[in-house]
Amino acid sequence: MIEFTDVVKSYSVGTQALKGVSLQIEDGEFAYLVGPSGSGKSTIIKLITGELKPTSGTVHVNGYSLERIRKREIPFLRRTVGVVFQDFRLIDTKTVYENVAFAMRVIGAGNREIRERVPYVLELVGLENKGHRHPTELSGGEQQRLAIARALVNNPSTIIADEPTGNLDPARSWEIMSLLQEINNLGTTTLVVTHQMDLVEKFHKRVIAINDGLVVSDGMDGYKAYEIQ
Ligand code: ADP
Repeated sequence: MIEFTDVVKSYSVGTQALKGVSLQIEDGEFAYLVGPSGSGKSTIIKLITGELKPTSGTVHVNGYSLERIRKREIPFLRRTVGVVFQDFRLIDTKTVYENVAFAMRVIGAGNREIRERVPYVLELVGLENKGHRHPTELSGGEQQRLAIARALVNNPSTIIADEPTGNLDPARSWEIMSLLQEINNLGTTTLVVTHQMDLVEKFHKRVIAINDGLVVSDGMDGYKAYEIQ
């Protein structure tokens, strides 16, 4: 579960990025987080992953209290949250298979576990026939799928995708959004950060809209309420 209660985040230069955000995402839920550039979306992600601490208020993520988490606990928190970064962060010198396997090796998974799990996640994202390719040989949509496979391989309870369709054409964007919903259907709590309102509208899911550091609407019709303001 992700729970923000009255979260204020000020950066040292004095910008108040979040001005009192409260929200709750239950285990197994799917939500979009939308808002214009500079509204505080990245700040929310960084608070969830423990990259930042709240200035005031509380952030609870999968059993950890982020306002008082110890440094040595952060790797354990991060195993519960798979993040798909905007810029993918793939390793070009490794194959598709190895990019995914590497994420398991760094947390100490055994070879047998890796041999079982990597083909499963590659198949889940539709890359089962591309394991020997390198990221540079993949299309943008395929690279995004690989980034999703890597975020999922250690079986996190939560996945966060940061602008997953930013560089994709409408058909590929639709496929990626559908894939994220499929992953959610398998039980992973899913938060998708985007500013592509047109796409979000088509999926009829929960939309948390933020503007200027505040939640301005939250619900199945969140985006529409947001647009009217
Ligand atoms: P979004 O992801 O929605 O574009 P951000 O969370 O990145 O928004 O930013 C929210 C606000 O905080 C913006 O006004 C931004 O300029 C400011 N901000 C973000 N990061 C920093 C930082 N490291 N130092 C100072 N201000 C920042």
